[in-house]
Amino acid sequence: MTCTDFLKQLTDYFDGQVEPELLAEVQTHVRECHHCEVVLDTTRQTISIYREHEIYEFPAELRERLHAAIMKKCTGAR
Ligand SMILES: [Zn+2]
Repeated sequence: MTCTDFLKQLTDYFDGQVEPELLAEVQTHVRECHHCEVVLDTTRQTISIYREHEIYEFPAELRERLHAAIMKKCTGAR
């Protein structure tokens, strides 16, 4: 799994709609990739804040920002 794949699966992951095999891949990627681990943690925290305020829809704007941030880091690292 690449960082791009990871990001594509991120919203499904938090929706709990991800296949078990894919879930395993996501978890493996996060163990190996610190950038995505940070993204996952940040997203999880953000979502818990949203849930507290009863906003259940994952904000597209947030996804865009996360995507831009991670792509910048990942491409910059290589
Ligand atoms: Zn990654």
